[in-house]
Amino acid sequence: MKKLIFVTGGVCSSLGKGVAASSIGALMDARGLSVRMVKIDPYLNVDAGTMSPYQHGEVYVTDDGAETDLDLGNYGRFTNSPLSRANSITTGQVYRAVIDKEREGRFLGRTVQVIPHVTDEIKSRILAVGKDPEVDITIVEVGGTVGDMESIPFLEAARQLIHEFGRQNAVSVHVTLVPTVSGGELKTKPTQHAVKELQEVGIQPDALVLRAAEPIDEGLRRKIAGFTNVEFEGVISAHDVPTTIYEILLLFHEQGLDSFLLKKMNIESRHADLKAWREVVRKFREPRRRARIGVVGKYMELHDAYKSVWEALYHGGIANEAAVELVKIDSSRLEGESADVDGVLGAVDGILVPGGFGERGVDGMVRAARYARETGKPYFGICLGMQIMVIEAARNLLGWSDAHSTEFDRDTPHPVVGLLEDQVDVKNYGGTMRLGKSDSVLKEGTLIRRIYGAERISERHRHRYEFANAYRAEIEAAGLRVAALTPDGGLVEACEWPGHPWGLGVQFHPEFKSRPVAAAPLFASFVAACVEHGK
Ligand code: GLN
Repeated sequence: MKKLIFVTGGVCSSLGKGVAASSIGALMDARGLSVRMVKIDPYLNVDAGTMSPYQHGEVYVTDDGAETDLDLGNYGRFTNSPLSRANSITTGQVYRAVIDKEREGRFLGRTVQVIPHVTDEIKSRILAVGKDPEVDITIVEVGGTVGDMESIPFLEAARQLIHEFGRQNAVSVHVTLVPTVSGGELKTKPTQHAVKELQEVGIQPDALVLRAAEPIDEGLRRKIAGFTNVEFEGVISAHDVPTTIYEILLLFHEQGLDSFLLKKMNIESRHADLKAWREVVRKFREPRRRARIGVVGKYMELHDAYKSVWEALYHGGIANEAAVELVKIDSSRLEGESADVDGVLGAVDGILVPGGFGERGVDGMVRAARYARETGKPYFGICLGMQIMVIEAARNLLGWSDAHSTEFDRDTPHPVVGLLEDQVDVKNYGGTMRLGKSDSVLKEGTLIRRIYGAERISERHRHRYEFANAYRAEIEAAGLRVAALTPDGGLVEACEWPGHPWGLGVQFHPEFKSRPVAAAPLFASFVAACVEHGK
């Protein structure tokens, strides 16, 4: 029998429901169970691709090219669940599917309603994710806060599934807040109300994950158990941890959340192999080296906009037993006559320019690349960060001061980065992005080939513009080596500065596949180079 775990949130948003769901997934993985993760986003956007990073943080890209909510990135970092378009369900997708079916006449003239048609669509999408025979558990994170209007159809679908599967096969975990009021006292009332709200939609939680600033003692947990009808063993203190979010799964495990859920679902208990996770936390806690890494980008005031990049840098730190200090540098600070490029960039051991869209701050990124190339400071360009290397080489090595990407200057006389011929003049940008996993062939004798230790690799993409082939020969001759190509040789996938200690740009996004237990090779190598440079 397949099992379902629903993870919901109460009281308010941003309680770390995604991390809680991911941690439960990791614990089930560690017990040898096959887990699938699903995120439900109760917004009307069909996917996160059209949403501004300011609104919604990073867009996480899956192998099959879905542009999803950043919570899927957590699933990828914490669990072995394969992730594709199907693992991200939004209200927009659900309604679109139901309305399409209605237009095709597939409801045979019946009145189409939220219950049962929308809820049936939700249920079938959830069950589709775990349909493979080897899957043991599907974990469904319901976005938003219980009580919001938007999530009602999803909670109703969850209620129905729990009823149909039986409570021994489908369980509910509710994440709530236990705030501290002045004087330091922990308050249980918001949790009481949050549980009541969940009960009102017909769901009795089996476990409560209580977010709090400090550990919630037994007495308080017993009190909460008492007024919520949750067994005491299912009431978990999820207090703030001083180190890393990857410690939270160990915190859950110590309090027996995983064995409690297994017992509830009638799954025989098995040994949890948490060695790799304990190593991650130990290395994070006891670093032996350090690196200060400057990330020069555009959305710096919003941490979530580059979520996977930050995480991958931490993974690179863990791989090197190094503490990574992130220095966020808004690239527009490096622009203009009076900018103190030396002062800002001199203070870091390495520079990373991440992906981005739109013109603002691009010239500052070009300056950062130039600085790194000329001073021998490690430089890692991701997507836009690689295109910046191309623009920088054209401007400063070839002397074409007007060189640019046509994304930022349509009429530049030297369009060294541009759209492919068959994309030019496309008015409607939808659908012209290169999205998802594809192969790159790494050239012999390059840094990138040495790092991957393989000739052919596969990484995820999310971009529209390309290194313009018309300028490849001239730019290479001037000193920017093309280090990787698509298998047909048609597109440039990586560039390097030959003779530089570590100067590499890639057109793809290696951060999406990085895990704390297995850092992406480029991040591990880049952090190692920064540690070395900082000595
Ligand atoms: N804006 C650039 C492009 O579309 C880079 C995209 C990115 O960095 N993800 O090609």
